Amino acid sequence: MTVLELRSLARTYPGAVPVEALRPADLVINQGEMVAIEGPSGAGKSTLLNLLALLDTPTDGDYLIGGRSTRGLDDASRARLRCETFGFVFQSFHLLTSRTAEENVALGAAYHGLDPQPALDRARNALQFVGLAERAGFRSELLSGGEKQRVAIARAIVADAPVILADEPTGNLDSASSDAVIGVLERLNRTGVTVVIVTHDPRVAARTTRRLHVEDGVVTDRTSASQQQVVQQQPSQPGYEPDRRNDRTAPRAASRASSRVTWRAMLTDAAASLRSDRRRTARLIGVVVLSVTLALTTLRLSQSARSQVSDAFDAQRNRRVAVGSTLGGAVPAIDVLTATDPESLRRVRSVPGVEEVLALSTHIQVPASAQPGDLTNKERLFGIDAVPANTSLLVVTGVEAGTTLKDNQVLLGASAASRLGIGPLETSPTVWLAGQPYEVVGIVTSAGLRTEVETGVIASLSEASRLTATESMSLEIRVVPGAGAQVARAAPLAWAPQYADFLVVAAPPDPTSMRETIESSVRAILLTLSVVSAAAALISLSNAMSTSVAARTGELALRRAMGARRVHLRSLIGYEAAAIGLVGGLLGAVASVLTVLVVTIAQRWQPVIDPWSLPIGVLGGLVAGAVGSLGASRRASRIDPASALR
Ligand code: ADP
Repeated sequence: MTVLELRSLARTYPGAVPVEALRPADLVINQGEMVAIEGPSGAGKSTLLNLLALLDTPTDGDYLIGGRSTRGLDDASRARLRCETFGFVFQSFHLLTSRTAEENVALGAAYHGLDPQPALDRARNALQFVGLAERAGFRSELLSGGEKQRVAIARAIVADAPVILADEPTGNLDSASSDAVIGVLERLNRTGVTVVIVTHDPRVAARTTRRLHVEDGVVTDRTSASQQQVVQQQPSQPGYEPDRRNDRTAPRAASRASSRVTWRAMLTDAAASLRSDRRRTARLIGVVVLSVTLALTTLRLSQSARSQVSDAFDAQRNRRVAVGSTLGGAVPAIDVLTATDPESLRRVRSVPGVEEVLALSTHIQVPASAQPGDLTNKERLFGIDAVPANTSLLVVTGVEAGTTLKDNQVLLGASAASRLGIGPLETSPTVWLAGQPYEVVGIVTSAGLRTEVETGVIASLSEASRLTATESMSLEIRVVPGAGAQVARAAPLAWAPQYADFLVVAAPPDPTSMRETIESSVRAILLTLSVVSAAAALISLSNAMSTSVAARTGELALRRAMGARRVHLRSLIGYEAAAIGLVGGLLGAVASVLTVLVVTIAQRWQPVIDPWSLPIGVLGGLVAGAVGSLGASRRASRIDPASALR
């Protein structure tokens, strides 16, 4: 027996001018009564109904349900008690339009702990009671107004509530549909269910057993003797009996409803919500895709760009070290014997990081011509110890690397050769230096940074120093990548320890630290970009989710009225966000891989494809969904069902 008892219950809305919407009222509604609440607009009827429904809290007095005071109950207890006691019928039906009649009714059972299948079984049973068995699979938006309201009644009774609260249930219906709806409520009442109807319609009120009138917040009982007579004459009829054959999952629901919901029911509800507004779902997924794509792409591109910087740096970095001395200057210079000593050069070659060494002497100009006896033309003279193997120091055609020039052999710089009119090497041309013939065995087409070598004549070190005075000695050293600084320190000591302090060394800047500096600034810029883009995307996701919750206020409030606790709404939004995050994350990962491919191919970079992209994308989508839904789920849990369902 569920007796509803008001003890001096009052509700005043605060404000500049407080509104006494319900003045202290004493009232008892017994189990099995059929009560009409009448009164003009603004009288306080909805306020009374919301207080009865535990959707609103009184400012004074006490409200007892089944003899139990509801004062001081927390949200969860109120939700549970509401769920156990009441079924709701609203003037505007509050059906989820894109779901079928039976899905709408089953939702009422889901918040009483029933799994989806048993909930559907009971929904069909309830639909049969309201005469809509054949409409079970119809989408609710296709039903007529009267049918919608009967579906709403089926939803209200599906969980076996002992009290049905109906707010203007016929307000939107024509008289025939009104009759059908009131007929259903009457039949329900005859099975022992208490029915409380707020109505403007005197014909509806006339069919109840008790008439309460509300005016200016004051409740008076205007039940006539004849109406009470009617109730006494009503025989008890067989009525609605829920089909509980499949209710194993919810033993408590079989006896009395409770405010709980299984994860399967929650998942089904979340999936149906996502399906019901595909455009909204697609938009939310789109935002996740965008955020994951942005974040992952900038991250991946930062890796590609970094490796690109590294490669470019490796390719460009200077791998040459030059050690030199000027002979005959103010400072003691390296002597030619030491400088050209094979042992000294061997020591330099064995310095770690040295790939190749070219000993090069520079001499005073020597008369040079293609004709014997012509002493007018002069060319710069150079001496080398051997033709270097690695082409970047000295590019020579016509002679093999490692060759030591014989005393009567020379190389000609490409421009010197053309100036002297020396022909192709197959003809074994001869050049005359200071009146002596020399066989030209090779042409120097490039001498790297020592471009002056390309314009002169090159002989062996000993022959060159015999021909003219030595001006300077130098070593051109090719080093392995990154060894420049180290070789620059060690080479002078290895070459000529006694002169080391007077040798001039030209070495590239330390490439390792330079590369690290560049890499880390590139990384910092791109990481900042990733963080900023992820943050921007999260903010827009959060906004989109909040907006979508705002658009669903009525639907979410309905779940609250059906017994959902705040945490249930949070979970529902959380489940939806997880699904959106999962799908969005997957698509975002794929999109980012494609974007990175396109960008790197267009830039001719080495693409960095990470097999972790997919799991990271999915995880990122889930995290984005979770973080993005925080505001939305808080908003959902704060919905006030009393005002949202007006
Ligand atoms: P009825 O349902 O009979 O039309 P209500 O119960 O909705 O009347 O309202 C009773 C009075 O309380 C009205 O004057 C209305 O303006 C006022 N009222 C209702 N809800 C609120 C509210 N949330 N805040 C302030 N005043 C309210």
